[in-house]
Amino acid sequence: MVKSSQRRIRDTRYAIGVDVGATKIASALVTQDGRILATRQTETRVNQGAESVIQRIADEINALAAQTNETLSGVGIGVPGLVNPNDGVVINAVNMNWKHIALREKILPRLKRNVPVRVENDLRGAARGEHLFGAARGVNDFVLLSIGSGLGSAAMVNGSVIHGANYFASELGHFVIDPKGRVCTCGLHGCAETVLSGRGLVETTREFLEFRSASSLNANDLTPSGILDAAHANDSAAIAAFEKMGEWMGIVMATASAWLNPARIIIGGGLGLAAFDLLYAPACESYARRVIKGNQEGVELVRSQVDSSAVGAAALVL
Ligand SMILES: [Zn+2]
Repeated sequence: MVKSSQRRIRDTRYAIGVDVGATKIASALVTQDGRILATRQTETRVNQGAESVIQRIADEINALAAQTNETLSGVGIGVPGLVNPNDGVVINAVNMNWKHIALREKILPRLKRNVPVRVENDLRGAARGEHLFGAARGVNDFVLLSIGSGLGSAAMVNGSVIHGANYFASELGHFVIDPKGRVCTCGLHGCAETVLSGRGLVETTREFLEFRSASSLNANDLTPSGILDAAHANDSAAIAAFEKMGEWMGIVMATASAWLNPARIIIGGGLGLAAFDLLYAPACESYARRVIKGNQEGVELVRSQVDSSAVGAAALVL
């Protein structure tokens, strides 16, 4: 018997993923195949200032790291905003009121274990998670659209998540889809996010209600989940709003297709997943009308399969 074979060879690597949101910090200890071993969650408390939030992130990492003696391949931190992954600086995170925060540099000395830390835009982490253990396994060209309160997106081309010159590549949420459209939170008019988001759905439904009196919905008290329930109960205004949203989604998909020729478009986000069945047919129909037959046909529209944003962040270091 060869001596070295008597040693049990470990091929398991663990990683810690941290998803930093404006309201909560979700973290997880994850195996290399995406299995969650432990999770934690705490409030972000953005109003207490960046230093306090950074300490809270470090505390969460230390608490998870203390739960294992295994080698950690690293810590991935996903942040909702513009991030330079090379130096770990958060250039701009509007929802957190962060500008030029050297997150990686500030986190490293606070960690009790000596592990590499990678900071990245949260959606790019999610895209990597889908590629490693989600809806994009074996697919090197895909676009991820996350439909929630806003519209987030990321894209992988030839197996690499794209960043662009200023780390703003694949921000389809702020692609102007309707020059005469609604004012966006970014200050532009008619961004895709103004129609393809929870806020957009509420606005579109309100517009439909002006023409349809036979709806169970109250124009002054609209929420995305209320509209979703109404659509499932066959409310015609709610269904029309989702059909319109699906039409916009098809335009965003066709735009992504013209630029990047993805094999798959993955839909994530709370609203995107909850409304997937309502959006699917109108989005596919709208897409088919806007792409060149033979060239861009065959794109698959699928649901996201990584339900934890912390797992996506962990994928950054796996
Ligand atoms: Zn915008």
